[in-house]
Amino acid sequence: MSTPPPPPLARGESRTRSRRRIFRPNYLSFSGTYRCNLNCAHCCVPIEWTDRLDIATAKRFTTECAALGIRTLGFTGGEPFLFPEFLERVTRHASKLGFRFDKISTNGAWWRDVPQLEATLRRVLRAGWTGRFSVSVDRWHPVRVETLAQFARSAAKVSRRDDILTIAYASEAPAKGLEKVQALAKVLGGFVEFSPLLGCWMMVAPEVSATLNFNHLAAVERAETLADNWDGSWFREDWCEGPGQAFIVNPRGEVKPCCGFASDLDQLTIGNIREHSAREILKRGRAHPYVGKVFSKGLLAIRDEVLAKDPGALPGATTNHCAFCWHVLTRGLAEGVPGRGGQVGNWVDAGKPQHPAKPGPRAEKLGV
Ligand code: SF4
Ligand code: SF4
Repeated sequence: MSTPPPPPLARGESRTRSRRRIFRPNYLSFSGTYRCNLNCAHCCVPIEWTDRLDIATAKRFTTECAALGIRTLGFTGGEPFLFPEFLERVTRHASKLGFRFDKISTNGAWWRDVPQLEATLRRVLRAGWTGRFSVSVDRWHPVRVETLAQFARSAAKVSRRDDILTIAYASEAPAKGLEKVQALAKVLGGFVEFSPLLGCWMMVAPEVSATLNFNHLAAVERAETLADNWDGSWFREDWCEGPGQAFIVNPRGEVKPCCGFASDLDQLTIGNIREHSAREILKRGRAHPYVGKVFSKGLLAIRDEVLAKDPGALPGATTNHCAFCWHVLTRGLAEGVPGRGGQVGNWVDAGKPQHPAKPGPRAEKLGV
């Protein structure tokens, strides 16, 4: 086994060296397409929308980000591998600019057959991709572990790296929701164990090993009724630096400051790469009445403002940052931003079809 990957950035762990609190993105991520081959019950992406991000515009924006000192790139979706030419061409461009590569988030189940799977992965790797493939493995993603195992084997084979994967899992707590990863490890002839050195769980198998990245599941959008976000304690201030301090560009060119569970809300849009330069979007983010405050004063300051105005405004306390964020934004409780979106605001969006409510999640869909 080669050197284990560095520990994933935990919520609250800062990538920035400066102690001055301000929106200072150091990570660029593109979502070239909303489309996805799955239909997960907890999904907060409008996977029905057909927009695609223009490759030339994404390349231009990448160049501008490099000039701002941003040097790390990732891809997300929808399912990013449903738009492989985007991955390939933007990777090649970023590689020439000296970017380092983080991860391509994938469900690992978008492929038709093994030759197509391996040809697509090879295409991206040959463009210069040196990052990892982050596969979602949890009870929310309805994918058979045999399919995930084939993805893992092919990724290791084509990249010739046994550390090519990381695994993302959404659950209520880091030690919960590992059953599907354990089932995957079994198929691969390995095991799952907590690493005190890395401070996270790991899957170790002969052909491929991976760190596990925990996502604190926020029941939002179509999953709003699936769980109670209000668990009785308040979150610790973390300045949103784990999922945030980033330019996350969606297929419509809109830029978000984070990839948190509430980030698809219009209220977290700080610009559009079709209209604005990276420098302009940086300024807009800092001047944004909500985003600017999240990164300078913190989410707890926003909570205090909300409660000072109306002590009964919130249903309780929550340890989940993004669930809190979702609640105050959809209900219009934060200063300077209107309430809209989700099942409350019904995804009102002028000129675009609304994000239709999906059929309610069925128990068998949620099974491991
Ligand atoms: S794989 Fe991701 S993008 Fe696709 S439906 Fe599931 S959560 Fe949404
Ligand atoms: S709390 Fe809000 S701003 Fe922070 S990461 Fe979550 S969605 Fe983004």
